[in-house]
Amino acid sequence: MGPETKRRIATGLATGLAAGLLAGTALAEPQVIHAGRLVAVPGEDVRGPSTITVDNGRIVSVVDGLQPAPAGATLIDLSDKTVLPGLIDSHVHLASDTTGNAGLIEDMVRSDNWFTLNAYVNGMKTLRAGFTTVRNMGDGTGSTEALSNAVAEGLVMGPRIIDAGKPISTTAGHMDGAVGLKPDFRPMFDASGNTCDGPADCRRAVREQVANGADVIKFAITGGVNSRIGAGLGAQMHMDEARAIVETARLYDKKVAVHAHGADGALMALELGVDSIEHATIMSDELIRTWANSDTYYVPTLMTVNSYVTRVAAGLENEAPSVAEKIQWRIEITGKSLQDLVPAGVKIAFGTDAGVWRHGENADEFRLMVENGMTPESALIAATLNAADLLGLSDEIGTIEVGKSADIVAVNGDPLSDESVYKDMQFVMARGTVVE
Ligand SMILES: [Zn+2]
Repeated sequence: MGPETKRRIATGLATGLAAGLLAGTALAEPQVIHAGRLVAVPGEDVRGPSTITVDNGRIVSVVDGLQPAPAGATLIDLSDKTVLPGLIDSHVHLASDTTGNAGLIEDMVRSDNWFTLNAYVNGMKTLRAGFTTVRNMGDGTGSTEALSNAVAEGLVMGPRIIDAGKPISTTAGHMDGAVGLKPDFRPMFDASGNTCDGPADCRRAVREQVANGADVIKFAITGGVNSRIGAGLGAQMHMDEARAIVETARLYDKKVAVHAHGADGALMALELGVDSIEHATIMSDELIRTWANSDTYYVPTLMTVNSYVTRVAAGLENEAPSVAEKIQWRIEITGKSLQDLVPAGVKIAFGTDAGVWRHGENADEFRLMVENGMTPESALIAATLNAADLLGLSDEIGTIEVGKSADIVAVNGDPLSDESVYKDMQFVMARGTVVE
C-alpha cells in the first residue's frame, strides 16, 4: 500500500468514526489553537499571535490574532509558545536500537513480533519529540511496514511512516545481514530476499519490496561503517545493478534513497537521478559540482556521531576490527560534507539515522547542522518543507496551511535564533490528535 492509499484510508477512518473510538483518530469537534508566535511556512516571516482551527484532523483556518473559540470547540492555549509545523525525520530505523555486535545478537534472539512492538515504542518516542512524520530507511523483518499500516489505519498512535521495507544490497554489501559470518550461519541471516547480484536479480529484489508494501526503495551503493568486513567505503555495486534498481523502482512510481559513503558511489547515484543520498561522508570536487547541478537531496545523518563516541568510550575491543577502524574515521569526518554541500547549494533534507543513536533525541541533529554551516532557519526548512518534498508529501505536511494535515508542534523561545529549543518539545499534535 502506497502513502496515497494509506492516507485515503486514514482520512476515511478519521471522518467516519466518532471521537475516541480508535487511538489516532481526530476529535469530532473543532479544535482552536492560540499561538503566541507562528512559523506557518518556514522561510517566510514569523507571524505574531495567531489562531489555527483544526477539524477532522485537517487545518481549516489560520488567522491573525487570538480569536475566540466557537461554542463546542476545544481551545488549546499555546499563547506563550512558538508554534511550528510538525517536524519530519527522513532517515530512521524504528525497529531497532542497536548496531555492531549488539545488533547482530539482537537479530539472533528477538522475534519479528518483538521488533514490531519495539518499532511502536520508538515511534512514540519520536512522535513525542515533535517528529510527526518519519521515513523508515529499512529493517530486517518488515515490522515497521506493519506499524506504518497500523498508524495509517488509526489502530495505534505513532508518527506517519513512509517505509522502505528491507534495504537492498549486493551479496557482501553493506545491507547484507549475513556479511562476515561463517558460511554455516549465512543462510539463516540471508533469508530476507534483500540481497541481489546482477541486474535481473536486482530487479527482483525491488519487486519483492514493492510486493511487501514498501513506499520507497532504499539501497546501499557503497560500503558502510557497521558492516563487518574490511571492504572499504567505496562503490560495491556495478552500474548495471544500480541502474536496474532505480529503473525498476520508477516502474512502480517509487522514490529511491541511496546509502553512500564513497564519492564514487554518490556520483553513480546522481547519474541515476535518485531522490536522496544518505550519509555521503566522502567528497570530491567533481561530486560537489555534480550534486549542485542536480535535484537530489542530501540527508546528512550527523547524529550517528553520538553513537560512535559512546562506542569508543565503551572500548573498541568490543567491535569487529574493521568496524573499530571505521568508527574512528567516522567521528573525525562528521559534518565535513555538509560544510561543502551547503555553500554549493545542494538541497538538504533533515535525517538522523535514529536507531544508530537513541530514538527520541532526533532534535540533536539541529545542533549538528548549525555547527556545520546551516542557519537555524535553513535547518528548520530541511526538517519541514524539504523533507516533505523528498517524501512526496508536500500537499499534506511541512507547513501550517489550510487543507493540510493538522501536524502541529510548539516550543518555548525562538527556534530561528536558538536551535536547542526543539529538545524541550512543549506540544505535539499529529493528524489532529494531541499526543500525550
Ligand atoms: Zn540508516
